[in-house]
Amino acid sequence: MGFKGSLFMVSAPSGAGKTTLVRAILDRFDQLSYSISHTTRAPRKGEVDGKDYFFLDEKQFETMIEKGMMLEWARVHNNFYGTSRPFVEDQLGAGRHILLDIDVQGARQIMDSGLEPVSIFIMPPSMEELARRLRARQTDSDQVIQMRLDNARHEMEQRGFYDHLVVNDKLDLAVETLAQIFEKELQN
Ligand code: 5GP
Repeated sequence: MGFKGSLFMVSAPSGAGKTTLVRAILDRFDQLSYSISHTTRAPRKGEVDGKDYFFLDEKQFETMIEKGMMLEWARVHNNFYGTSRPFVEDQLGAGRHILLDIDVQGARQIMDSGLEPVSIFIMPPSMEELARRLRARQTDSDQVIQMRLDNARHEMEQRGFYDHLVVNDKLDLAVETLAQIFEKELQN
């Protein structure tokens, strides 16, 4: 749509190691800006408002939707998540490249938006390994873990819509594979 910057988006089932990978990529590519999402989820321990997310209540979230300020939004695990339209359009307009960390529902909306994103899906090595990682985090109840696993199965079914698939088995290897994708796309 005539923007100078490129839009990248990364999706993954929770527990696939996406956050670590995204941080590694942001450290490596100065020319990439991270889009801080808005969410109605409560902050986790250590999370900072305006850094990890903009934490909103449902009313504030709805107002942003009504004002057309969400480029995409979705309900994930009973909470709302959305990407700021002004942020993305301003950055792309200024020739900055942006990275979105969003779920498959949001990614599908961006794919249909005309913004021509570069889309990457991160896969866990297996469902068993994903379950093991979610339990090891010790942040969620069994019930929540079960919900995340059901959601992961559903998300993995959508991986065919993405431009690139990266399996996060060995972290170092996954970082390199991902970095190569960004390097190649940023050269174009
Ligand atoms: P978490 O609550 O674990 O931080 O994130 C849960 C899920 O919400 C992840 O799959 C993450 O990618 C997704 N997510 C985070 N921000 C956004 C957003 O702005 N839009 C959409 N659609 N999903 C998001």
